[in-house]
Amino acid sequence: MYDLIIIGSGPAGNAAALVASRLGVRALIIDKSKHPRVKPCGGGLTPKTIALSRILGLDLSEVIEHECGEVLVVTHAGSFVMRFKEPMIRVSRRERLDEFMFNEAVNNGVEYVNDEVLRVRETPSKVEVIGRSSVYEAKWVIGADGAPSRVGRSIGVMPRSNAVALMNIASGNPIINTGDACILDFTRIKWGYAWLFPLSHGEYDVGLGSALKGRYSNLLLSYVNELGLKPGRLIGHLIPYRPPNSASTRRVMLTGDALGLADPVTGEGIFQAMMSGALAALSLRSSNATEYYDSIITSYLRDNQYALTVAYVVYGLDSQFLSRFLKITGFSEPGAVRIIEKVTGGKLTYRDAVKEVIKSMI
Ligand SMILES: Cc1cc2nc3c(=O)[nH]c(=O)nc-3n(C[C@H](O)[C@H](O)[C@H](O)COP(=O)(O)OP(=O)(O)OC[C@H]3O[C@@H](n4cnc5c(N)ncnc54)[C@H](O)[C@@H]3O)c2cc1C
Repeated sequence: MYDLIIIGSGPAGNAAALVASRLGVRALIIDKSKHPRVKPCGGGLTPKTIALSRILGLDLSEVIEHECGEVLVVTHAGSFVMRFKEPMIRVSRRERLDEFMFNEAVNNGVEYVNDEVLRVRETPSKVEVIGRSSVYEAKWVIGADGAPSRVGRSIGVMPRSNAVALMNIASGNPIINTGDACILDFTRIKWGYAWLFPLSHGEYDVGLGSALKGRYSNLLLSYVNELGLKPGRLIGHLIPYRPPNSASTRRVMLTGDALGLADPVTGEGIFQAMMSGALAALSLRSSNATEYYDSIITSYLRDNQYALTVAYVVYGLDSQFLSRFLKITGFSEPGAVRIIEKVTGGKLTYRDAVKEVIKSMI
């Protein structure tokens, strides 16, 4: 029997595995895919993700293909170049990022098996993980199987809302010369945005996401064409963004997309996945791991509520009304860069950001 089984080998599962290996815990990763595997993603890493990676002992520089110190923000009220002290978005390819983290964990002694988990069953003393090929047993399980999560469904703990996002790796020379900037375009899609993140070798991660469900393939293709790029294969996935009130049951902890931790404002989920994976594994130091995990993840679950409010302001009030009809937008405010810098740097919670904005308005 293992001490810990981690189901899923994305950023959440890999961060959990790294921490578990450092704690000397006998851990097994089960993933239905083999690395390198495709995962629809912009691969954008914020400064807080880089800071967390360093804490986990990871040097991500070998998987970062581009750094955006400038971000071109397009709104109905005009376009603005935002300049940041530290690159606001570092761009990676997800298959490389995930493989890199996975290899670090396996090199540190974590075991791996390629199997698809069908469900988990908890008993008072252990958890049985029922895979397509075999049954595995552990004292604790970390569900890091993304969205929609089989582990979450088994234990009846699921995110409450999902956004959708679609991307492709486009190639060529974009018509607009953006230099090294990343583009965030809030005029392309309702309740979301389109992005262009430069990669190496003349390639670009171009995509769009929205809180509203819909078929967005043609919208993305026309955006890629307007940029003057040649589209690649379009792939999409859910981004769960409203977590439930609790993150665990007696012996199972949910992390990352399985829990619905993605940021409802930006769609960022890599940081939240790594952070929750690391905290879940760290909780094994406590005699009651799941209770401890629930207690430390609560503040993040609560801040997600404040982030939802900010999302309503950005996509409802600003994008749909102020910038469209009155041609004013919060993105042109001098304080906007500073607040975005602090939130993406992990120095300000959404709760404190809301307070800061209200204070500055008063
Ligand atoms: C188009 C798009 C663009 C995005 N862009 C960004 C971005 O630029 N920056 C950012 O921070 N976030 C972005 N996100 C969000 C980010 O991709 C996710 O939040 C993040 O991948 C969550 O990590 P995770 O480890 O929880 O899950 P995942 O990365 O989804 O990993 C889950 C793992 O579990 C495995 N698995 C699933 N089911 C089973 C099963 N039954 N049995 C065994 N294994 C299983 C999968 O094979 C996979 O390896 C984007 C999302 C989308 C869809």
